[in-house]
Amino acid sequence: MTSLNPVKLRPGDTIGILGGGQLGRMLALAAARLGLRCNVYSPDPDSPAFDVVQRATCAEYADVAALELFASEVDVITYEFENVPSGTAMILAARRPVLPDPAVLQTTQDRLAEKDFVRRLGIATADYADVSSLETLQQAVARLGLPAVLKTRRFGYDGKGQSIIRDADSLEALWSELGTNSAILEKFIPFEREISVVAARGADGRVECFDVTENEHRDHILKTSRAPARISDELAAQARTIATTIADAFDYVGVLAVEMFVVPGPSGPSLMVNEIAPRVHNSGHWTLDGASVSQFEQHIRAIAGWPLAPVHRHGEVAMTNLIGNEIDDYGAWLAKPGVTVHLYGKGIAREGRKMGHITEVKTRSRSQKR
Ligand code: AMP
Repeated sequence: MTSLNPVKLRPGDTIGILGGGQLGRMLALAAARLGLRCNVYSPDPDSPAFDVVQRATCAEYADVAALELFASEVDVITYEFENVPSGTAMILAARRPVLPDPAVLQTTQDRLAEKDFVRRLGIATADYADVSSLETLQQAVARLGLPAVLKTRRFGYDGKGQSIIRDADSLEALWSELGTNSAILEKFIPFEREISVVAARGADGRVECFDVTENEHRDHILKTSRAPARISDELAAQARTIATTIADAFDYVGVLAVEMFVVPGPSGPSLMVNEIAPRVHNSGHWTLDGASVSQFEQHIRAIAGWPLAPVHRHGEVAMTNLIGNEIDDYGAWLAKPGVTVHLYGKGIAREGRKMGHITEVKTRSRSQKR
């Protein structure tokens, strides 16, 4: 069941975006193409999204006066990162529609709540345990066995706030290094590959999934995404069903990404959900050049109360992130035929910082199967 969504933007209306990174920037560019304006809210004066919008709000997320002014200047509010503080979301939601509904954030900001939610839907995850002390960590290790992955419940990204526990490791040392008493222990999954589904759900409850993407990480940071993933049609259909079930359960409006492990087993590979991102996602960047509509445009359409576009992939697509000083190779990439270059306009190429990405599309003569 889908609740009635009152948002119905008209060209010229303004979308408020919380967060000023590359995702906000690409959302704003997609909105502009549809004749919509954006006001980007970010505490960082160097936000790459500020460069492409007419109106920017540079203020802290706890600045009530700035939030009130921002809300008064926009018609609907969305976000490009999942760690929007709950107080910020509450202040804004009292004044303007916030999409996706901030209730989604409460679940996806907390790995324990997220895994409980996914399991309640009958979807597999790695076995896990709530860990709040050295003693509960020891009990969790005894129950789940080693190796296992210890993760902070909140604010983890790109492998930060997590460590693999192996047989010889000292639990005392790992626990004190983690620096929080709010964690989760997961069984280590010897996965065959990592995939994600980027799905859009419209205000009318219709869901459009992009083709399943296969992701490779380097130093815990996404390096390449390929579509389609090298999995069977049957498994791909299961992956899309999982993403759709999650989007429906949230009564979601917008784009979300569901990261999954493909796990080998005696009766063939199966899927486990690792994480939900309630936003456009790095593994969906290939859609900018490799699909009939991008994840960014789908998100804007959904939160505007506009129809989603049907999704078709143009061929075999590979997206590679330019991380840190890899940005220095932009000239070589620009000179390479068949490559599309996206640079995020970020100043300093710090190690591990996503500075841009490139896409290569190998088109096929025969039309793509949905
Ligand atoms: P996450 O922060 O949960 O997205 O995890 C980052 C990366 O760590 C994942 O993309 C996996 O490569 C790896 N990872 C996370 N959880 C597990 C697990 N339970 N078993 C094996 N690898 C994992």
